[in-house]
Amino acid sequence: MSVRRCTRAACPAAAVATLTYVYADQTAVIGPLATAAEPHTYDLCVEHAQRLSVPQGWNVIRLAIDTATSEPSRDDLLALADAVREAGRPRPEAEPPGPPGLRSVPPRD
Ligand SMILES: [Zn+2]
Repeated sequence: MSVRRCTRAACPAAAVATLTYVYADQTAVIGPLATAAEPHTYDLCVEHAQRLSVPQGWNVIRLAIDTATSEPSRDDLLALADAVREAGRPRPEAEPPGPPGLRSVPPRD
């Protein structure tokens, strides 16, 4: 997975949040980094996510973001990791270990 960059001009920082403009509700939503780029979404670094300003009359909704500078709880991290895993790829643990004490033995005549 490649590192996504902040979409602000000339900002080299890695993106940690995705900003979504909900034009119908005049609301800007800042949440965890989206897994897929969609129209009207912008990836932002920590600083730009925190300093976001919206047009007059707009609301800002800030969801919990997993940032490097804050310290999210372990539960948040686990939940996020689970969400990413479920969204991204098939389960890596496809082969559960066999029951203890049993070994497969090659057949003999
Ligand atoms: Zn930035």
